[in-house]
Parts: sequence; C-alpha cells; structure tokens
Amino acid sequence: MSDFRTAAHAAAELVSDYLAGVPAGPVWQPMDPAARQALLDAPLPHTGRELDELLAVIAEQVLPAPMGNGHPRFFGWVNSAPAPAGVLATLAAAAMNPSSAGGDHADVHLERAVVRWIAELVGFPHRPGGGLLTSGTSMATIVCLSAARGRAAARAGHDVRADGLTGLPPLVGYATGETHSCVRKAAELLGLGSRQLRVVPADAEGRIDPGLLRAEIAADRAAGRLPFLVVASAGTVNTGAVDAFEPLADLCAEEQLWLHVDGAYGAFGVLDPAIAHRYAGLDRADSLALDPHKWLGVPVDCGCALVRDPEQLRDTFSLVPSYLRDEEDGGLGWFSEYGIEQTRPFRSLKVWATIAHRGRDGIAADVAHCTRLARRLGGSVAADPALELLAPVDTSIVAFRARPAGLSEAELNALNHALPLAVQRRGRAFVTGTLLGGREAVRACLLNSATSEADLAVLLDEVRCAVDELTIRQ
Ligand SMILES: *Cc1c(COP(=O)(O)O)cnc(C)c1O
Repeated sequence: MSDFRTAAHAAAELVSDYLAGVPAGPVWQPMDPAARQALLDAPLPHTGRELDELLAVIAEQVLPAPMGNGHPRFFGWVNSAPAPAGVLATLAAAAMNPSSAGGDHADVHLERAVVRWIAELVGFPHRPGGGLLTSGTSMATIVCLSAARGRAAARAGHDVRADGLTGLPPLVGYATGETHSCVRKAAELLGLGSRQLRVVPADAEGRIDPGLLRAEIAADRAAGRLPFLVVASAGTVNTGAVDAFEPLADLCAEEQLWLHVDGAYGAFGVLDPAIAHRYAGLDRADSLALDPHKWLGVPVDCGCALVRDPEQLRDTFSLVPSYLRDEEDGGLGWFSEYGIEQTRPFRSLKVWATIAHRGRDGIAADVAHCTRLARRLGGSVAADPALELLAPVDTSIVAFRARPAGLSEAELNALNHALPLAVQRRGRAFVTGTLLGGREAVRACLLNSATSEADLAVLLDEVRCAVDELTIRQ
C-alpha cells in the first residue's frame, strides 16, 4: 500500500491545484480535436500501469477539459460547483466501498440521518423510512410516482404489483408544460402513458392554475378515468418558478390525489427568508423529489426521494414478506425495500460532509447569495433596452433574451437560439438556452456562492459581445 499512500498524496496535490486554478481559466472551451480523439480511441491496455502514471494521464488528458460547472461564471443548466467537503468525502466513501442496501454499518445509518437532515432543511415532515438517496431526481421521481400509482390502484381495489395496470381505468396525472421531462419519462416507464399525463396550462408566472386543473379533473372523472396525481414544481428548470402549493394541496386533499413536488433544483430556495413564503404548503405534499447534487453542491450523483408515509414506499418496493421484515433498525429494514437499486453507493458521506461543513446557516447564506445575485441580474437585464427579461425571477434562474432594435420575431429567435453557444465559445461565461412560450431564451442559473457581482457584469458584457458578433455576421 505504500505506493497508494504516495499516489494519494500526489492526487490530493493534483486535485487541490486543479480546484484552485479553475476560476482563472476559461469557463469552458471546445476540446482540441486531437485530445478528444485520443480519449475516444484509447486502446484497451493489456498490461497495467503504475498509479502515478495514471495520475499523469488524468492531469494531462482529463482535468484540462472540464464541463465548466466548477467555475464561478458557469450559469448553464442546473449544474453546480462541487462542495470541497463533498470532494474529500468521496475518497473515503470509495475506500470503504460498502453497498448501502442495508445492514449494520456506518453508511446505512448515516443515510438515515442525512435524509432526515435534508427533510429538515426544506421543512418537509419526516418519519424514519420516509425517504432515500437516489442517483438524481429522475430516479427519485420514478420512486415517488411508483408509490403514488400503488396507492391509487390499492384504493381502487387493485394490486398493481401483481396485476400491472390491466383491469384498471386509465390513471391520470396532471402537470404543466414547464414540468421537467423526467416526470413524463416516469409516467411512460410506469405504464401510465404520456397521454395520461395531462398538460394543464400554466398562468403567466408559470404556475399551475388550480381552477383549470379542477375542470380537467372533473372532465376525466366524467369520462371514467381515474385522476390520481398532481405534479407541482418547487423551481421549474426554465425559469425557477415555484407553484402555489396551498391551493394545490387543498385540491389534492379534496379530490384524494397524490401531490408530488419536483424540487430538484429549487427546493433548497426555501432556506432564503426573502423567498421562503413562496414555498408555503410544500410540507403538505405526499412526496418531494430533490437534488442535493444541485444547489447544495454535493458531488454528482445525489438525488433524494422524500415521502410523507414511509409505508407507501415499502409497500411499493419491498419483496420481503411482512412477517419476515427485520425488527432491527427500528424495524425499518433495508433501503432496497424502499427503492429500485439493490447494490447502492455510499452517497450519504458526501451529503453529510457538505452539510456539516457549512451548517444550516452557511447553506442558507449561500442560497440567499444566489437569489440576491439573480434578482440583481434580473434588474440589470430589465434596465437594458437591448435585453428583455422573459420571466419573473422567483428563485435563482434568470430567463431573458437579446432584443436589439429593428429585428423581427423570427430574427430575434434565430439570434437568441445561436446566442448561448456564441457566449460559451468565448470562454468567459457559460449560459444555456431554452424555449419559453415559443420564444428562444437565454437562461442563467446561479448556484455558486463564489459568484460575485463582478461576474454578473462579465456575463452581461459577454452577452453583448456575442450579440454583436452574431448580428454583424447576419
Ligand atoms: C435536474 C432536474 C431534474 C432531473 O434531475 P436529475 O438529477 O438530473 O435526474 C428534474 N427536475 C428539475 C426541475 C431539475 O432541475
């Protein structure tokens, strides 16, 4: 193991240098074609190499070509910089390398604790067993919607685990056009069919309109279908809009529907006192999916599924007959009885380290820093006649477009469609694009507490320069 120790010291130096160097480098740049090809064509090695040689390859061929999300001027999609404490924990977790399926070892108990911490951070009621870590929100959504499907089927006197959907009236769920695609994927995988996931029109602020929702539910019931699910968002991916949960929770209680909230990106926004009121009623949802690997900066991957009633999860996934269920561990049994994965990675250590390093107060301050900067950026965009803010800044996403004078809507769409890549290629800031109500938009997502107001000024400069490049070329 002596060469491991030596290599581990070298790796620590390498990674520390890498992290320290990120802010001074370009945010992202297209890979050098030869370097890209070298990775693609890497031959299967027939003989092994020393650990220090592997580190040299990592240093020369891998670390120089990052995605860019560690940089304070990376505003693309919803990808955060890694929390340093989480990076450290990853090494120890890999060294232990347990399967966190269940049993009496530290990782299993730590996962129970951090799931409780996550629930506490976002103010979601938690009973032991009421959640687990997943690869991300896509997986957490499948877990939560499986439980919703099981409950609806059981209420109709149907055992969906044994009989599938055969014999049930169509189960219908409701979402909006702004709902993340992972919900549709889950609906397709669970055999509900994407046609049975109704797209309820959102209001001007991107929120579900409970009145329209009520009418759709009534129409589906009248047609003999079985409404069972409403999916709301605690921060949509396009604009960061937060649904009004109280009226939706009232409606779901009245209609006996499962309220699922997608909080992948935005659930932790509730920690900022300036916007916490927008999350009122979140604690009334039946399930909440969220991503510690987004705003918390836990190194990928780490999602989390939280459910109000732990038994709903266990009844959905456990293959252990109830008379054999383990009475140890408070009778909670194995995580593999609450989700899809059997062998499960030790995700909880990086969550534990990330939260323990900053504490609740530190995390809340980081979140508030991002929302404050986002409002600042929104204000600068709104004040610039050559730019147009396309949605209110609810959380920490700013959706806007360039609007130089004299261009038609079609020309504006062409320009704004090309704009994110043009900004990215310049290497000083990174934004991505989206389509909002038929308009091509640029969106900036703020997740990094190292981002400063000066970085926002650079971003706006870069957008203006990229617009100039594109309009001169047109
Ligand atoms: C990222 C995201 C998802 C998907 O989560 P993954 O962790 O990528 O699986 C779902 N919903 C929203 C709002 C997101 O931002």
